[in-house]
Formats: sequence, structure tokens, C-alpha cells
Amino acid sequence: MAGAFWCLVEDDWQGNPKKVMAEVLGEATRLASQAGGQAEAVWLTDKASEGGVKQLGEWGAKRVLLLENGEFAPYRGEVWVPVLAELVQKESPQAVFGAVTTRQRELMARLAARLGAGLSADATALAIEDGKLSATRPVYAGKLLAKTTWAKTPWLATLRPNVFKPAESQPGAGPIVEKPAVTLPAAAMSLVERREDSATGLPELAEAEIVVSGGRGLKGPENFVILESLAKVIGAAVGASRAAVDAGWRPHRFQIGQTGRTISPKLYLGFGISGAIQHLAGMRTSKVICAINKDPEAPIFKIADYGIVGDLFEVAPLLTQEFKHLLDK
Ligand SMILES: Cc1cc2nc3c(=O)[nH]c(=O)nc-3n(C[C@H](O)[C@H](O)[C@H](O)COP(=O)(O)OP(=O)(O)OC[C@H]3O[C@@H](n4cnc5c(N)ncnc54)[C@H](O)[C@@H]3O)c2cc1C
Repeated sequence: MAGAFWCLVEDDWQGNPKKVMAEVLGEATRLASQAGGQAEAVWLTDKASEGGVKQLGEWGAKRVLLLENGEFAPYRGEVWVPVLAELVQKESPQAVFGAVTTRQRELMARLAARLGAGLSADATALAIEDGKLSATRPVYAGKLLAKTTWAKTPWLATLRPNVFKPAESQPGAGPIVEKPAVTLPAAAMSLVERREDSATGLPELAEAEIVVSGGRGLKGPENFVILESLAKVIGAAVGASRAAVDAGWRPHRFQIGQTGRTISPKLYLGFGISGAIQHLAGMRTSKVICAINKDPEAPIFKIADYGIVGDLFEVAPLLTQEFKHLLDK
């Protein structure tokens, strides 16, 4: 539909849209209302759930284009991109938005190349100015912010998670559901074996409501187990500062900050993290911030709601024990 702001659905492979979709749909709704259009969801999946479709409507999608086919799993760009490109050419949406996730990062870049369209990747702000979309995104490892606009539609952008205001759920708002016919190309790759990476059983960093994070103060990779024990008890994800990531203690996908993930959990617990500006850029919107540091002058205490001046090797096990007791675990 002309004037449509499409949001590609990021799901959990179990038929449910991820939390980040509330942010993407919320922003698309805000912009579409200024541009005289509407937010719509486009969902490529091997299995959608009824609840998932309903959820998209409640987050603001007026129409859901549902493409359900076993061939969409696992994700393969060579199957998804031609299908999406065909749909864009048929429907001429004004904008196509994705989230900055592993899958959609690749998908949107390939889609832009296929369509010959402009893509603003990793946008942290979007606005309609003089009837046109403009995007702000960090460049040069976050040292500068670049403002870009598009020469023609469709406007393609990926939105950084935990930056945009999530849509407020509108209970009972049912979207129009359409199942367009598309041509599925043959897959060049097939799945041989699937190994789950999340052996820890902890939630995903960008989606977690509680995040326990460790920095250089942990002194070595072996000590992250202390934070994992606490995280298991309180259902938290474990993140890290860049110092811990650069030292090779945690993979980069766990880095919080300007050049890592942006998170906005209900509770952030930082252990042995000084609170450098680049780290704060990735977690300062957390609802409640608690810092544990042995240095009372550590800058993180300036933005913390609660601070514990102490040795993390003493404090973390005590907190774990106390939460176990309180939560009856
Ligand atoms: C362009 C650019 C981008 C960057 N991007 C990021 C980013 O995305 N994320 C990020 O995190 N950083 C980023 N940085 C790096 C940032 O500037 C800091 O160097 C980094 O965040 C420091 O990590 P840290 O707090 O773990 O280490 P430190 O600053 O060394 O702090 C360690 C803290 O641990 C405390 N401590 C030590 N032992 C204990 C103990 N036993 N108990 C309790 N506390 C203890 C110390 O008092 C200290 O405050 C970036 C830098 C640049 C230039």
C-alpha cells in the first residue's frame, strides 16, 4: 500500500514477535501518522502464532502481510531477499524498517542492494522533515553522528534496539491479515545440523528485563561464572564492558555500550565497571541502575540509583545467596 511503513518481523522462531518489534512498530506508527500513512508488519516465518499476529496489531500494525512457509526456516538470505523484493515491487511501501539484529542486519543490506534502494543502518533517531524521512546514525565507532536522507523511496532503515520508544499495547486492536502469493526461489543451502548456542539458559541480552554486567574488575574470564550464578537466580542476561570484551573474556555480542549493544532493562547491575561515557551510552536508559565498585569515586556512581562500595568478589556471592533465599530457589 502506498504510504505504508513496513516493519519486518523479528521473531523467536517459536511463532512470537520479539520485544524489539514494539519499538519498530511504535516508531513506524509515529512517523506514518506524520506522513499520512500507516504502519504495517511483514512476517516471513515457518510458523506464526495467532497470538503473535494479534500482538503485532496491538503494537500498531494496521495490516499484517503473513508469509508462512516451511522454506523460510532456517533463515537464508537467498530465499528471503527475492521474496521480499518481489513484495516491495508489487506493493510500493514508502518505508521498510528492520531491527539491528543478526538476521535483519544482513537481510536489509541484501534487500537494499537487490532493490537499488538506500539503507540507513543502525539508526538511533528518525524524523519526517519536509515530507521526507531523515535518519541519524553513529559513524566512526560512535565518534560522530551522521544525518542522512533518501533520494527516493522506499526508505530502508534498521533501528537500534532499546533506543526507540516502544508502542503502548492497544488491547483488542486487530490487524487486517493478508497472505500474499509469492514465488519462492530454491534454497542454495540446506540445514545440516543445528546447535543451540545459548547453553547457559540465560535470556538474550537485548531482550532481558534484568542485566548483570561485568567489567575489568572481574580480573579474568573464569570469574564471569560468579555473575552467571547470580544471573541464573534472578533470570538475568550477562553483559560486559568493552574492556572485558577487548581482553577476550566475553564475545563481542555481549558488549554493552556505544560500540556494542544498547540495553534498557528494568534493572542493570554493574560489577567492576568504572562507568566510562561510552559504556553509559549503552545502558543509561535502564530503569534502575545498581553499581558495585570498590572505588567510591568511580563515575558509574553518578548515574546509579543504588551503589555498593565493595569488593565484587564478596558482594556478588552474597547477593546471589540473598536472592536465592528471597526468591525461594
Ligand atoms: C570510540 C570508543 C568506543 C567505546 N565503546 C565502548 C563500549 O561500547 N562499551 C564499553 O564498555 N566501553 C567502550 N569504550 C571503552 C571505555 O572508554 C572504557 O575504556 C571501558 O568501558 C572501561 O571498561 P571497564 O569499566 O570494565 O574498565 P575500567 O575502566 O578499567 O574499570 C574497572 C573498574 O573495576 C573496579 N574494580 C576493580 N576491582 C574490583 C573489585 N574487586 N570489586 C569491585 N570493583 C572493582 C575499578 O575500581 C574500576 O572502576 C569505548 C572507547 C572508545 C574510545
